[in-house]
Amino acid sequence: MLNYDMPLYRPPSEAENFILQVTLGCSFNRCSFCSMYRDKTYELKPLDVVRSEIELAAQLDPGIRRVFLADGDALGAPTTHLLDVAQLLTQYFPHLQRISSYAWPLNVLKKSPSELGELRDAGLKLVYVGIESGDDELLRIIRKGANSQMHGETLAKCRAARIKVSATVVLGLGGQKYWRQHVDGTANLINEAPPNYLSTLQLGLAENVAEDFVARFKGSYVAQNDDGMLLEQRELLSLLDPPRPVIFRSNHASNALALAGNLPKDRERLVMEVDDTRAGIYPKRPRWMRGY
Ligand code: SF4
Repeated sequence: MLNYDMPLYRPPSEAENFILQVTLGCSFNRCSFCSMYRDKTYELKPLDVVRSEIELAAQLDPGIRRVFLADGDALGAPTTHLLDVAQLLTQYFPHLQRISSYAWPLNVLKKSPSELGELRDAGLKLVYVGIESGDDELLRIIRKGANSQMHGETLAKCRAARIKVSATVVLGLGGQKYWRQHVDGTANLINEAPPNYLSTLQLGLAENVAEDFVARFKGSYVAQNDDGMLLEQRELLSLLDPPRPVIFRSNHASNALALAGNLPKDRERLVMEVDDTRAGIYPKRPRWMRGY
C-alpha cells in the first residue's frame, strides 16, 4: 500500500495511472476559489522516500507506463530533483511512456528553456495548467498569482520545450458581472497560444474558501446557475478558432454537460450540443452525479 499524504488530487484523465507524490501541497496555495491544499504546507518529499514509493509501486505493477507527479505543482521542485525522480522512474518502469504533472504557471516561467528541455527528455511530456481565465481583472480578483500574458508565455514556453499542455478554464468564475469579459479574454488567450488540450469545469466553492472568494468581488459577486454556465460554455466555444488543433473536453465531474471534440473542427457541433441542452432537448447531468 502506497503511503499517500491525503488529500490526493489528480486530473480525471490520470485515473488509471500511477500517482507519485513528489511534493506535498501547492507552492502558491492562494487562489481564492481553490480549497485543495489549504491544510497542507508545501514541501519537497526527500528522494529516498520517493524511491521507496517507486520501489513499492514497481513490485505491485512493473508494467506501469504513465506516472502523474503530485501534489498541486510538482514543477515547483528543483529541476535536479525532478530529473532524479524521472531517472528512478525510468529505471524501475522499463515500459514508461509518459510523466505528467500539475504546474503553477510561475513555476514553469522560473525554469529556463534548457531545464524544460532536460525534463522533457527525461520523460515529462504533459503538464496541466490551470489558466482559469484569460481576463486580467478577473485573474487579479481571484488572486491567481499570474496574468494572461504570463499564461500565454507559459503555454509558449512548454510548446518550445515539446511539453504538451492541458489547460483548464473555470466556468462561472466571474459570476454574472464578469462572465462576458471572462469568456472574451479566455477565447483571446486560447486563440493566441493554443494548448494541446483544453477543458472546462464549473466553479464549485468549498465551505472553507467561499467567504473569502465572494468578499474579493467587493459586493458585486452573483453566482452563475447552470444556465449561465452553459451560456458561458457556448460563447467560449463559438469564439474559439485556434490556429492549431486543440482537443477539447468538459468531462470533469462538476459539469452539467460533458462535451468532447476537436477545435476548431468540431466547434459548430459542440455549440449545437450546448444549445440543445440549454433548450432542454438533452438533459443536464443531475446534481447528485456531480462532484469536484
Ligand atoms: S495554483 Fe492550483 S493548486 Fe495552487 S492554489 Fe491555485 S488552483 Fe489551487
